[in-house]
Parts: sequence; structure tokens; C-alpha cells
Amino acid sequence: MYSSAEEFPVLFSNNSSNGVNRMKDSTNFFGPPIWPPFEALQDVLKRWSAEHSELMDLQVRGQSREGRPVYAIRLTDPNTNDKHKENVFISALHSGGERTGTATVFYLMEWMLSGDPLSAEILRTQNIICMPVPNPDDYLRGDLGYVYSEWNLKGPKDPEHMPEGMAVKEVMDELQPDVHADIHGLTMNFTKYIMLENSGSSYSNLGLRCYHRDIIRQMDAAALAEGYPSDRQESDSERIYWGPELEEMSAKVWIGRPRVFAATYCYNLFHSILSAVEVSWERSGFLRHRRLLEIGNELWPGEYYPGYPNRVILSNGYHMVTAWGKTASDRRRSRIELWNRVGQIACGMADPMCEGRIVYVCTTSSQARSKWLGDVTLDGFAGHLADHPQADHESIKDFVAGWPAGQNHPKAWLALFGEQSSSKDLGPVQHGLALRLRIPFTKAQITDLRLNGHPVPASETDGFMEWKARGYTYVQINIPPGRSQTEDLYVVTCAYEPGDVRTHWEGWKENSDGAILSNQ
Ligand SMILES: [Zn+2]
Repeated sequence: MYSSAEEFPVLFSNNSSNGVNRMKDSTNFFGPPIWPPFEALQDVLKRWSAEHSELMDLQVRGQSREGRPVYAIRLTDPNTNDKHKENVFISALHSGGERTGTATVFYLMEWMLSGDPLSAEILRTQNIICMPVPNPDDYLRGDLGYVYSEWNLKGPKDPEHMPEGMAVKEVMDELQPDVHADIHGLTMNFTKYIMLENSGSSYSNLGLRCYHRDIIRQMDAAALAEGYPSDRQESDSERIYWGPELEEMSAKVWIGRPRVFAATYCYNLFHSILSAVEVSWERSGFLRHRRLLEIGNELWPGEYYPGYPNRVILSNGYHMVTAWGKTASDRRRSRIELWNRVGQIACGMADPMCEGRIVYVCTTSSQARSKWLGDVTLDGFAGHLADHPQADHESIKDFVAGWPAGQNHPKAWLALFGEQSSSKDLGPVQHGLALRLRIPFTKAQITDLRLNGHPVPASETDGFMEWKARGYTYVQINIPPGRSQTEDLYVVTCAYEPGDVRTHWEGWKENSDGAILSNQ
């Protein structure tokens, strides 16, 4: 770990005898180029892989169009089991021209190999692949190249002529990353070249914003702790996001537009957390990404297991379908399967919401949705369950009996979420799923919890678990692969004591005569 940028080794030394690319004229105010030559990058990689052969695996994943090696560096502690590890992909896809991205990945890699207690712990629990210079030809030219942006949802747009992009795609496919952190920046074409930095956002692509804004806030805070400020995009610009209906007022919305870039491929296939960061100074980029990697070792508020928070597949704004599994690899496999079958999953909640009772329904096939959710009134739905071979429909009928109507529908009903079309069905869910309830009372006590009318035991694999966070009581019903392969309708009924008394119409109900107004 370095205490200042000056301590960064040979690559950024001012001594030209170290092979740093410098122009002859150093009297210019702006200063000479300071980017490390490709040969220097290769030398460092080879030295590190010899010195740290246990922790580091240096791979050549392909050849550039001009025949240069495209490197990938796998960093992890082989003494801990891969099934418990989070998978992280760190790249500098625009380097190409944005060489501070490359330099920052090198800074991060050196820290990860340094034996620092935090980096050692990260390598025990995470499997990290770095591609610091995926586009070596354009790195030398200082061109942005195509590796970052010339993609569609299947991969690089022109696979035959984009060997570097295909090498990136292969790493993504193999790793199935929980996080894809892509680092951008400057050419380093002159010494005083700077830029305003940020975390977790692309100015050109609205679709590359990290879906956890709090991860971004924490990465920015880590940089600020050493004095590096951050731009906050739409917030600092005081503008709302663009959308098709806002085109008429496009001069008044934030600059980003939704587009498909390389990282979109990762999100679309793996539900990866995306982070695009602009780095001017490698120390700042390191601080931001050290914090990001640290989050992968922590318990994210609202989660039951530590690790990156990327487990929610479908939410109606209240409750969620989430990945199943006790280990990181089980959850990743489940998450990716469910994410790619999201078109065949529907979930629904009893509307109106009612203090003390929840009904939550999930179907995992189009057939189940049309069979069991054809009548979405609570009464009608519960009545149809008489035909279900496993459900205790009397229990469910009793639970919903007398449920009053709310403001959204003439009768109490199941408000359904999830786009569904039978053409998207890929067959039964092979790797389990979980149904996560969020009860908005932190002191809630569960008094009766049933799945398809049958009581649910406590279990991290086949049953329920309960935890408190963010003011919620979370209840998650874990449905193992053996069950998800054969069933496609799940009806959760949950009765609870809220534990808090929250009242309405307090403090202002005295009328002009001093009498107390009544709601009767
Ligand atoms: Zn860039």
C-alpha cells in the first residue's frame, strides 16, 4: 500500500532511465507525456507473476489485431474454496486512450499482492480478474478504440474483426462477474493533464449507472477522505434523466442517454453490479476501488449473507424474488438462472396492504400464471386453489376471508408484476429460488408463516430465515432446487404482530368549540 502517489514505483518515476515515455522538451508548462510504455507493463506483469505465483495467474487471452498479447490477470488466494468467493471483473476498457485506467488497475493489483491485511482478506473471499490493457494497439496510439462501446447484447458487434473485444467477452462469460468495475480516465499525453473524477457513472451512457447509489456514495467518500473531489453528474447539474417522452425538452435533461456498451452485456446476462469510474489520479482511483472491493467482504444493509448486493431478481417495490443458496457460488448460479428466466416469472401481492398480514404469490412458468392467476381477486384466486394437488387451499381461503377493497381495485386483489410471455419460457427453475418479504416494522413478530398453506420450518436451504435491517423485518422463504424443478406456484401467507403502534390523525382533531372530532 502506498501512502502517496510519489511512492508508486518505476512506472511513474520521473527518471527517464526507467523507460518512461517522455518527450525531450520538458520546459513546456504542460509537461511531457508520462504514460508507461506497453513493454513496461509487460515487464511488471511478468515480474509480479514470478514473485507471486501462488496468488497471481497471468493469462494471455488473445492477440490484438496487430499481434500484441491481450492479458488477463487472475488474483485470488488458492487456499480458500472457490465456492465461497465473489467474482469480480476489473477492466480498463477505454485504454485505448484512457491510460490512467490502465495505471489504476496496476496500482490496485500491486496493492492486492502487497500482503496488506485487507487485500489478503479480499483475496481469500473474492476471485478477481483484471484486464488493465485489453486494447494494446490503441493504447500505443492513444485512441479510445472500440472495446468499450461497440457492443450489442450478444457481444462485440463485429466478432471477426474485434479479437480484443472477444477476449473481454470470453473473460466475462467464464467469470460471470458479481461486479464489473471499469476504469476510465486520461491519455497521460502531458504531465499536467487532469480531469474531474467520479464514481459509478458514465456521462455518455445512462444505462451504466450503478444500481446501488450508495455504493457510489461510499466510493466517492473514500476518495474524498484523502482530498479527491467527485462530480455527482445529474445531481450537480441539477437535471433529471432523459427518456423518450422528454425528447422535446432534451436541452433541459442530463447529458447521458441509455446505450448498450460492453458492461451492459454483463448486466444483461449476469445481473452484475456495474461501476464505471473516471480517474485522473491513480491514488484516487485506488481509494475508490479499494472501498468497492471491501463492500464485497461486508454485509450489505438488507442482506442476510455478506457479499455484493446483486441478488434481487424481481421486485414489486415491496417483496422480492431473490437468488437461492448458502454459498456465493450457489447464489450466483441461482441468480443468473433466474435473471435469464425473468420473462417467465410473475409475482403478486395482496392489494390493499394490511398491517399484520401479507399474501405474496410467485409463479415460475407462464402456464402456472394462466392456470392459477387467471382470477386475481383474492377470493377468486383462493377458490381456484382447491384444484391444486399440494396446496392447503382452506388455510389460504381462511387467511384472505373478509379482506377489504383498497383504492386501486373494486375488490381485494393480487397486484401482479413481471412481464410474461410463454414464448420466453425456458423450462422449470433448476437451481432454486427465494421469496423475500419486507415487513415495514422492525419489531415485527411472525405468528404464522405458510407456503401453499403449509407451515414453513426455519432453514437456510429449505424453509425460512428472518432478519432485521433498515427498519424492516425481512422474512425469506428458501425453495431448494428439488422443489423448484417440480413446482411452479408459490403462495406465501404471513401473519405478524407489528410490535409498534403507529397512529393516524393525532394532534389536530380539536374543533373550534374545543370538542374532540371523531371518525365515527
Ligand atoms: Zn472512457
